[in-house]
Amino acid sequence: MVFNLMNANVDQDLIEKIKQLADFYRKPMTDFLGDLIRIQSYTGQEKPAVERTLLELQSIGCDEVWTDQAGNALGRIGNGKRTILFNAHLDTNEVSDSSNWPHPPLDPVIEGNILYGLGASDCKAGVAAIVYGAAILKRLNLLNDISVVVMGATLEEDAEGFGLRSLIERDGLKPDCVLLAEATNLTIRRGHRGRCEVHVRTQGKSVHASTPHLGENAILKMAPVIEAVESMNGSLPAHPIFGNGTQVVTLVNGPHTPNSVPDWCEIAIDRRLVPGETQESIVESIQTVVEPLGAKAFIPIQPVLSHTGLQLDGPSFYPGWLMEEYDPVIEIGRATYQAIWKKPAVVDVWKFSTDGTYSAGVAKIPTMGFGPQEEPYVHTAQDQVNLDKLVDAAMFYALYPIIYEQMTGAK
Ligand SMILES: [Zn+2]
Repeated sequence: MVFNLMNANVDQDLIEKIKQLADFYRKPMTDFLGDLIRIQSYTGQEKPAVERTLLELQSIGCDEVWTDQAGNALGRIGNGKRTILFNAHLDTNEVSDSSNWPHPPLDPVIEGNILYGLGASDCKAGVAAIVYGAAILKRLNLLNDISVVVMGATLEEDAEGFGLRSLIERDGLKPDCVLLAEATNLTIRRGHRGRCEVHVRTQGKSVHASTPHLGENAILKMAPVIEAVESMNGSLPAHPIFGNGTQVVTLVNGPHTPNSVPDWCEIAIDRRLVPGETQESIVESIQTVVEPLGAKAFIPIQPVLSHTGLQLDGPSFYPGWLMEEYDPVIEIGRATYQAIWKKPAVVDVWKFSTDGTYSAGVAKIPTMGFGPQEEPYVHTAQDQVNLDKLVDAAMFYALYPIIYEQMTGAK
């Protein structure tokens, strides 16, 4: 990418115009977010939320509105050859007990400048911010060489990156950079740890439970394996920004026959990764420890079914990623922030995983995060977003592509 920091030339009139438009759109943006919250959209069941998003993308004047094979909601502004992809997901995590919620999860409530509701912080406010960032861009009509594609993504909660992978690999969208509107509290994020599920299996010999000495108990064989897996903590790959990788045994499974000696036992391990770890390196590191104990390690296939009926099963592996601190996409983020708020942006990394696991971790597409939502409310009964920050985020999304075009030049 040709990149020149000095090319950024944003006059104050433009900033004022973006502010006015963002304020003008505050009401429709908030109404759209409220509608999204009213629509339950657990992973794989996003169809009504996708349809609602397509309506909004039409109403803001997108040049093209469509869904891909995986059922992501998509809208494009501009006809430039290069593409900036705005990504935020429409699926939410599931409510375990709504009686813990101060307000009903699917009934958005506004108190002061705070909007409460399921998915407000993860990630429906992000969807509203990118849709209205694009709406402002459409009104400004300043893009020449750049198109912006807005993606209301599916499948992120259970299988982050799978919906985005399908858009890029199956439907052929080729973004030059990806902006993720996940929770950052208006700071810039440049990466996160990865995660991987690993299963370890022991094999025994089943006999009637009244004669256990004639069999081989797979659960007993697993006991030292669990200890060995746990003791790997502390010597897993480390990283200067992310610290040590971790792993923890999260599930134990076996035959559901209480009066037989179990002939198999399988544990699930949640492993958190630093950038650079691969499926092979992870399995090998665990296999080395469990093989002498007679066990076998492997990465399971995660079943993923889109709301369109497309089967997207794949290994339960979500690599970590980290953009260089002064990568052009991060620098453009800093310039955008500085131009709007006249102070330097905070640049950090996420604790949780996002669709960036595919865009940056697998496809190596320059990726950064910026969102209005705040991480402490994600997946909690206090799920909420500050509406002033929502408007601020829309401004950022409106200006970023303009500065991107200035700083990277036409090709
Ligand atoms: Zn999220």
